[in-house]
Amino acid sequence: MAIAKHLGFNERIGIGSLALLPKDHLYDFVDQLMEEFVVVGPVAKGSEFVFSEIRDPEQVRLDYETTILPPKKVLHRPFQTLFSFREDGGITEEERINKRQVLFGVHPCDVHAISILDKAYGSEYPDPYYMAHREQTLIIALNCTQVGKNCFCHSLDTGPSLKEGYDLLLTDLGCSYLVEVGSESGTGIVERTGLALAPRVKMVEKEKRLDNARKKFRKRLLTQGLHELLEENFRHPIWEELIKSCLACGSCTMVCPTCFCYNVVDKIDLSLKSGRRQREWDSCMLLEYAQVALGHNFRRDRDARIKQRIYHKLLYYEPQFGTLGCVGCGRCISACVKKIDITEIIVRMRGE
Ligand code: SF4
Ligand code: SF4
Repeated sequence: MAIAKHLGFNERIGIGSLALLPKDHLYDFVDQLMEEFVVVGPVAKGSEFVFSEIRDPEQVRLDYETTILPPKKVLHRPFQTLFSFREDGGITEEERINKRQVLFGVHPCDVHAISILDKAYGSEYPDPYYMAHREQTLIIALNCTQVGKNCFCHSLDTGPSLKEGYDLLLTDLGCSYLVEVGSESGTGIVERTGLALAPRVKMVEKEKRLDNARKKFRKRLLTQGLHELLEENFRHPIWEELIKSCLACGSCTMVCPTCFCYNVVDKIDLSLKSGRRQREWDSCMLLEYAQVALGHNFRRDRDARIKQRIYHKLLYYEPQFGTLGCVGCGRCISACVKKIDITEIIVRMRGE
């Protein structure tokens, strides 16, 4: 640990330390990060926001509510080439990333989702492609002081504040960000960027702002008795209604930060002499997803696919990963052209 002499007092910087990042130093801070890391953070895209590699610090927008796709996309990529092959039998493995990256400004729900992906891809049979990206990644998270219209993380305890899973954690205090140190790597960043340490009393201000955010949620998903509710309502009339409404387009799964299914396909070049094997995000909402040899399909019926999505998120994940598979980000609600809302499905089952 290093000793910092900021704000007129000596304190060792380490896990649990507090620092302050004045807002007018944000771009300098990002600039310093960019000297050492590939930085991926929220940027504006039209009226929405996306996670993108930062080329200019002034692109960073920490005032976002949500992004179209979650930051998962830089760890579990929508398209990932596994290797290339040639007619002569030559095979070239895809190069793994070799520069460390920072996921900057990640909201608590998305950090929780990454911890679920860590279990899915890093436990029994570690996935080398996911792990190669994950091991090179630091997370600078951002507590939510503003709330999107479809967010419901507060009812799942996955937001608006974060307790673990970050290297640094920022909270907007108005003129500055409170910076909490969560790891040795985070300690190193605070040291190298020379952030001023902050007194403990700043945590009171942080809690006030987060309490204020908690009052802004308009949606919730009650988890009390949720497993029993789902088990008892496998034949609830809501499923019949959803069959008529759902287009089985898969958008809800494509934007979900905890969905991890993929397909593996061979892409042959036009020369027919070479190609590449690639994996691509897949969706349990699509007809072909459960189709096997000779055309048999285990989930031909749309209601089976809709139920699979909802039951996997809210019932089947827990025995697998020790947590619900939904982090309340609300993206599936925003993405659905038919306005199908996972929170409303549970409200209907509860008869509220
Ligand atoms: S986005 Fe909506 S319409 Fe499309 S598959 Fe999901 S629930 Fe169905
Ligand atoms: S199911 Fe919907 S609300 Fe839950 S984590 Fe996935 S996209 Fe977010």
